[in-house]
Amino acid sequence: MSYKIHMMGQNDPRTLYQFDRLYAWKHGFEFAPATVELCTTNACNQNCKYCYAGRTATVCKIQDDILLHCFEQFADAGVGAVIIQGTGEPLLHDLLAQAIENGAKRNLPIWLTTNGVLFSDDLCRRILPFLFCLKISVLENDAERYAKQHGCGKSQWHRLIENIETIVAMRASLNLPFGFTSTVYLTEHNFRHLYHIVKFCKDIGFDFVYISEPSHNTKSLSNEGYASDHMDRNELNDVCAQIMELVDDDFKITFKLHCSGDILTGAGMHTWEKNYCQGIKFYTIVNCDGEVYPCWRYWGNKPYSYGNLYEKSFSEIWQSEQRKQIEKLVMETPPDGDECLVCGHCRLNDLLNGFKKATKWVHFL
Ligand code: SF4
Ligand code: SF4
Repeated sequence: MSYKIHMMGQNDPRTLYQFDRLYAWKHGFEFAPATVELCTTNACNQNCKYCYAGRTATVCKIQDDILLHCFEQFADAGVGAVIIQGTGEPLLHDLLAQAIENGAKRNLPIWLTTNGVLFSDDLCRRILPFLFCLKISVLENDAERYAKQHGCGKSQWHRLIENIETIVAMRASLNLPFGFTSTVYLTEHNFRHLYHIVKFCKDIGFDFVYISEPSHNTKSLSNEGYASDHMDRNELNDVCAQIMELVDDDFKITFKLHCSGDILTGAGMHTWEKNYCQGIKFYTIVNCDGEVYPCWRYWGNKPYSYGNLYEKSFSEIWQSEQRKQIEKLVMETPPDGDECLVCGHCRLNDLLNGFKKATKWVHFL
């Protein structure tokens, strides 16, 4: 593990470092998004309890030629970084390794989020040298709890642990620069094991662990609510304090628990604020059918697509009148239900609105 080598800075106020974009945004100029999230497929080898991807029987995979060349288009448009995740398991697309290599040739920092089970030695060799960061989604230190949480067989946990060991060894032997991180979800079932789960993550070689709780909406496969809301606060505080003793220069932990008010969610029908969703100008989503969407709420909702990469380049789509009209529509339309509760732009929206509301005190540093 080596947080200080691989991940130093990930906790910085990165939105506020977007000087050029913030200037353009403030003055009403056009600018490319800092981040594009790319979904290579909606298929998945797991069926996680907390998944809100709303998977349908129809499998969608982004067209090979589009996947192979979209990174060039993002780079040409001025995009800052690409996160490969989306509504399925990215490694299920056969050409992912080649596409990542193409993206790296254009100097695009690439983050891959995966459940990690489908890595092979060959895929590790082809993908890892070109990554900026690798995130293994939602880890456990016990095969049975993992299988229950991820809706899969216990063999997937064993496979994953072997893969993590391969990844850590390869990073060390080839001196690869990528950061290595994971999420641990606090649940009523793992609370008593939480310290050992995080210690397991440290010992196996992660640089950083994010301890949180899943948000839910009506698309979620199950809704167990936020576990931390029902726990004894003193007991929870004691466990968190014990876990924080694992932190050192090479291994960092962040807690974001609902009971502490750290989990932001998007607006509901009655708490909606017009023009609040400014984050859609800085972060956008490319779906596995080539459609470019503003945010999670509209994922798969074609009338809200900015355009399709099968028909136009990313630059053409981003500079189009259609995108401006859809943005206006998004900013003006309250949600119908709880679809925004899993909003991925929350923190971004929050920071940007804070920035807009700067008071006369702004220059007293
Ligand atoms: S949360 Fe991720 S890994 Fe789990 S079922 Fe959904 S897409 Fe697959
Ligand atoms: S999901 Fe989209 S519309 Fe909903 S709060 Fe987030 S940015 Fe706004």
